[in-house]
Amino acid sequence: MLTTTEALEAVLAEAKAFATETVAADDATGRVLQQIVRAERSQPPFDRVMMDGIALSWVDYDGGQRTFPIQAMQAAGDKVLSLQTGHCIEIMTGASLPDNADCIAPVERISVADGTAEIEDNYELKKNRFIHPHGSDFAEGAHLMTPGKRISPLDIAIIASCGETEVIVAKDPVIRVISTGNELVAAGDAIEAHQIRMSNGPAIMSLLGSHHYKRISHDHIVDNVSELRHRLAIHLDEANVVILSGGVSMGKADYVPQVLADLGVEVVFHKVSQRPGRPLWFGKGPNGQVVFALPGNPVSALVCCRQYVIAALASASGASESPPEFAAVASNISFKPALTCFLPVKLISNAGGQTLAMPVKTNTSGDFASLSATDGYIELTKDQTDFPAGTAVFLHRWIAQ
Ligand code: AMP
Ligand code: MG
Repeated sequence: MLTTTEALEAVLAEAKAFATETVAADDATGRVLQQIVRAERSQPPFDRVMMDGIALSWVDYDGGQRTFPIQAMQAAGDKVLSLQTGHCIEIMTGASLPDNADCIAPVERISVADGTAEIEDNYELKKNRFIHPHGSDFAEGAHLMTPGKRISPLDIAIIASCGETEVIVAKDPVIRVISTGNELVAAGDAIEAHQIRMSNGPAIMSLLGSHHYKRISHDHIVDNVSELRHRLAIHLDEANVVILSGGVSMGKADYVPQVLADLGVEVVFHKVSQRPGRPLWFGKGPNGQVVFALPGNPVSALVCCRQYVIAALASASGASESPPEFAAVASNISFKPALTCFLPVKLISNAGGQTLAMPVKTNTSGDFASLSATDGYIELTKDQTDFPAGTAVFLHRWIAQ
């Protein structure tokens, strides 16, 4: 049986890069950039005035002049004026510095009467103060963003500032989420005592959506070999990524691995030395599709989806790897089985600035209600059984920060 590290490596090795596409910048948030975004102009593109006030010449001020006839007013967006010797120009934040001016007196430090501005006694001006120099943030042509960046709202500012209306990003893969099981009934449909509400499909779709994958649809297939074969063949034809839940354990109705094999999906691994999620099955389809068959138990399904599916999607989207995240366990934990334990936790921070992980007990791997209180799960390595309070462990958040 593969270790969790081996399983993740195997998944990433099969997750081949998605194609690229051009999208409107307005729709690019959350997508993975596949181009360089270059600065259209130097920033700031001119000597930018940072205060409302008056612009004057340092030479005049240094020579002792404190009252200045107001030559004109120049606001942000106005054409650049040329300052005359001995005068000042009323200036607004964001304006381009007038020619011949190199000194700003803020509006709070002047008084204006009869077309003349007077600088407050004892207020000392400094040459070039309150002037944000041309090109001091970055130069024209600078590489402001590079491929692999997951586009955040902050990056949207950069893209817009570069004058780009479109960007090249990794294609959003077509994903099929398939719930298997005779017992499952969707919300909205009548349910009988012996049946179970289908919760994995909606939760997996939501988790993928929160990681910015949007081309997802869902199907429910009963535990019937010919039905599974027929419907899975269609999904394999149409999707880049197929995610099943249920039907991969050792029960008599667990037909998924066999049917996938019949459809030409080659098994890469079945079972990982972990809890929850030991029965995880992973394979590659004839056209390079990646196929995950997650155990049906809701906690297992969500942990496996977060741990392996999201990692595969990020890698195939060309996302730059994020550094690992750690948390300190909040209390002594012991886990005896020779398996990696993915333990759902709530995060708190202490006064020392540490992130502490508080285990949230799930009754069984079917107890999805307890997960609502959790932020993610910690990884307790296989070769250790006792984790004293304060031990640093890997943390995986459900939703990336
Ligand atoms: P299986 O892996 O098919 O043996 O399912 C394991 C357990 O998870 C069973 O109790 C199923 O009823 C439950 N289960 C499977 N799929 C889902 C689902 N989509 N939503 C909620 N529970 C499920
Ligand atoms: Mg089942």
